[in-house]
Amino acid sequence: MEDLGDNKKNRWAMATFITVTVVIVAIVLAVFYSRQSNEYKLESLNKSYDYIIVGGGSAGSVLASRLSESPGVTVLLLEAGDIEENNFLVTTPGAVHLLQHSELDWEYYTVPQKTSQFGIYDQKSFWPRGRVVGGTSILNYLVYNRGSRHDFDGWAHNGCEGWSYQEVLPYFLKSEDNIIPEVMDSKYHSKGGPLKVTESRAMTLVDTFLDAGKEMGEHIIDCNGYSQDGFCPLQSTKSEKGTRWSTYDAFLKPALGRDNLHLSVNSLATKVIFEERRAVGVEFIKNGRKKFVTVDNEVILSAGAVETPHLLMLSGIGPKEHLTDMDIMTISDLPVGENLQDHMMSIVYNCINGTQSMTEKQASSISNTMRYLLFGTGSHVTRSRYIHQVTAASLHLLQVSAFQTFTESFSQDDAQMDMVQHVCQSSPSIPVLGFGT
Ligand SMILES: Cc1cc2nc3c(=O)[nH]c(=O)nc-3n(C[C@H](O)[C@H](O)[C@H](O)COP(=O)(O)OP(=O)(O)OC[C@H]3O[C@@H](n4cnc5c(N)ncnc54)[C@H](O)[C@@H]3O)c2cc1C
Repeated sequence: MEDLGDNKKNRWAMATFITVTVVIVAIVLAVFYSRQSNEYKLESLNKSYDYIIVGGGSAGSVLASRLSESPGVTVLLLEAGDIEENNFLVTTPGAVHLLQHSELDWEYYTVPQKTSQFGIYDQKSFWPRGRVVGGTSILNYLVYNRGSRHDFDGWAHNGCEGWSYQEVLPYFLKSEDNIIPEVMDSKYHSKGGPLKVTESRAMTLVDTFLDAGKEMGEHIIDCNGYSQDGFCPLQSTKSEKGTRWSTYDAFLKPALGRDNLHLSVNSLATKVIFEERRAVGVEFIKNGRKKFVTVDNEVILSAGAVETPHLLMLSGIGPKEHLTDMDIMTISDLPVGENLQDHMMSIVYNCINGTQSMTEKQASSISNTMRYLLFGTGSHVTRSRYIHQVTAASLHLLQVSAFQTFTESFSQDDAQMDMVQHVCQSSPSIPVLGFGT
């Protein structure tokens, strides 16, 4: 009887010990993480800065980092969203689909389209965009694909000085930290920069796809190398551990300790203020209160393809007729917002009768999650999403891509088709292979 009593006491003591340890660890982690994410939430700002950057997304993070390299220059970065640190959904590429429609997403919809979106309710296209420090690089698909050299050369040819491919290549190299063995020593890549670029082949279908390309007589290429014409394993902005490497991780975070760089989160810019035709400051809303900061040199708008033209128009720069309709005084009558373009993406499904793809069940299994957490491998390091409305199937974006130029002459500025392979499994027994273009 005494033994039984002692056993009970021991078990009780053990349970108490474990509970207390778990609670203490949880408190320590909570304090640690909240400190980390609060570190840069400045409540008091200077009255004036040399540069004010609106939007701390892909572009804004790089700009803030580069401009504040000079200690004598003061920079304010205004961002409508917050810092999202240590969020498993953000760091895990395979969870990317869960970020769309979340609080980190502006959740834009287009107006009903007249000539497209016929298969979509109301013909309104959904446009996810990051509302968070790091912007859309926090919820995008991590593909590291530089623009076509023909596009850059075309811009330079049309008068955009300094933008030819040979002139922008050094900047791509400066920012890159490429650890893909096959390409990292090529003259089109470099190591040691802030932006981590890696490759992962979570499924053997990647190699099958590349083999199919070879069989068709296509070249297997480095998609950021000399030619983008052919089949390539995709390169991704991911760390060696397989986690997302956003522009916040790469550029802004390492710069946030600088005294001359201030980041103000949850700060929605509402207007650039002009004196005659010179920008003198920015009005923004933070914690429900309107604020104003003046600028000595420049206001830079990097609020994304939707918000930048919106903010310009709110500030009086845009088509006069539209601004007058909206009761906004025109400062400069310009066709702002009239050349917005989006790229097409369509998905075609094909069945494969093998087991090389990953089912939703396999993807969310404990062993797959442990592989990711311990070794940075498995399907969580791939971009995946789930298309519930269409087929209730899970869809994995593979790490391969194919480009096809449409003209014979490689020297011409050219249209390209980017084909990214998708794999999904519509039922446990029928894996499906699809192509998005
Ligand atoms: C679903 C999806 C997948 C994608 N996949 C890829 C991919 O795999 N590879 C790739 O290269 N590209 C991809 N892209 C595109 C790429 O992510 C974007 O082109 C890029 O992030 C845009 O950068 P940006 O700096 O222009 O805008 P953003 O990164 O969107 O930054 C704009 C920032 O401004 C802030 N902001 C907006 N308005 C205001 C305001 N009034 N006041 C203050 N702050 C404001 C926003 O909150 C945001 O943080 C993808 C895009 C989407 C939507």
